[in-house]
Amino acid sequence: MTATLLPYAARVSRLTGSVIDSSTALLASQPHDIVRFAMGSPADEAVPLEIFRSISASTLDHSSYTYGATQGEPELLEALVDYLGGTSEPTTHERVTITSGGMQGLDLACKIFVDPDDLVIVESPTYTNGSATAASYRAKLLEAPTDENGLIVEALPELVERAGRTPKAIYVIPNFQNPSGTTLSAPRRELLLDLAHRWNSVIIDDDPYGLLRFAGDDLPSFQSLSPSDPLLFSVRTFSKILAPGLRVGWVDTDPSIRRLVINAKQSMDTCANVPSQQLVSEFIRRGGLSDHLTAIKALYRERKGVMTESLRRNLGDRIAMTDPEGGFFLWVSLRGEDAATSTTALFDIALAEGVAFIPGPALSASGKFDDSLRLCFATSDPERIEEGVQRLARALDIARSLR
Ligand code: PMP
Repeated sequence: MTATLLPYAARVSRLTGSVIDSSTALLASQPHDIVRFAMGSPADEAVPLEIFRSISASTLDHSSYTYGATQGEPELLEALVDYLGGTSEPTTHERVTITSGGMQGLDLACKIFVDPDDLVIVESPTYTNGSATAASYRAKLLEAPTDENGLIVEALPELVERAGRTPKAIYVIPNFQNPSGTTLSAPRRELLLDLAHRWNSVIIDDDPYGLLRFAGDDLPSFQSLSPSDPLLFSVRTFSKILAPGLRVGWVDTDPSIRRLVINAKQSMDTCANVPSQQLVSEFIRRGGLSDHLTAIKALYRERKGVMTESLRRNLGDRIAMTDPEGGFFLWVSLRGEDAATSTTALFDIALAEGVAFIPGPALSASGKFDDSLRLCFATSDPERIEEGVQRLARALDIARSLR
């Protein structure tokens, strides 16, 4: 058979895949015990399995197994809008569309706003599944620096000036950012809104972790600073607060673009998984979400403390790390002699030692941060966290001895 060049679409060269997502299959294929600091998965204990079982038994029926409305199951929309009414992001039925997880929200945002060659600002480091989504629509990514207060918004005008054109979209994770764990300061939120208005750019406000603050005070959300703002495209998910396997999230957008959101979703998957939506809506309707959030925030506060303490004790000044007030992730940078260790190379050594993390370059649109790595403190219990950090320390020693 002669090899012929398949008639690929131009976008294929920008379908980069995800090191983060691929780690799930990679770890599943390993025969030995591995402490999992890699994926951003909730703790098993944080998934309300018994309640889900009882809801499945009592609530799911034939309606669960037919097509649902694209905008979402009416009961879920009702329960969600009602729940959000008690948060800093009250909303209305005209604004919300249920999605198949946060990833679909990002896809919808890019499908609606990003043309080939459009400029899209992304944080550095960032959640590369998000930047890759923009890239899959052939955006030109403009990486912007971050510090302990999130995206350095003050740096954007100069970056944009140098690029010679304004961005179509700005992709930002404002709370307990993935991967750095940092939170965008209030003045920077205001400045980002000002710039978006000046440039007529959409803010893709990706916030899966905002309801998981376990220390410090809430900061005003973009929505509260700029209510009913058509330039705000807010992407939310139940993946971190309930369970990622449900694949249920939502987007909150101006009613004027909701029809487009629905049309775009109809060319993707018709509707989000109906049994999952019914599980979530019944969970909220039974009043479980507030107590659940209180309980899992306490769990994650403890785990973050345990991981931080263990890293200090086992690695001391060989590393620097961020100090998140919520969410799932610590961002660790190698220091001193260890800074010469590639975290990409360290990954294989660590895997053999029985611990997994995400190397820094997998969290950068241009593959930077080879001296850094992301650790998820949410998944493992305190004993396993200690074990995993000790394995990581051993892996670093081995990497150093090999140099
Ligand atoms: N955005 C960010 C910042 C995330 O961390 C994640 C999940 N890791 C997502 C979006 C995607 O969420 P989902 O799993 O619901 O698709």
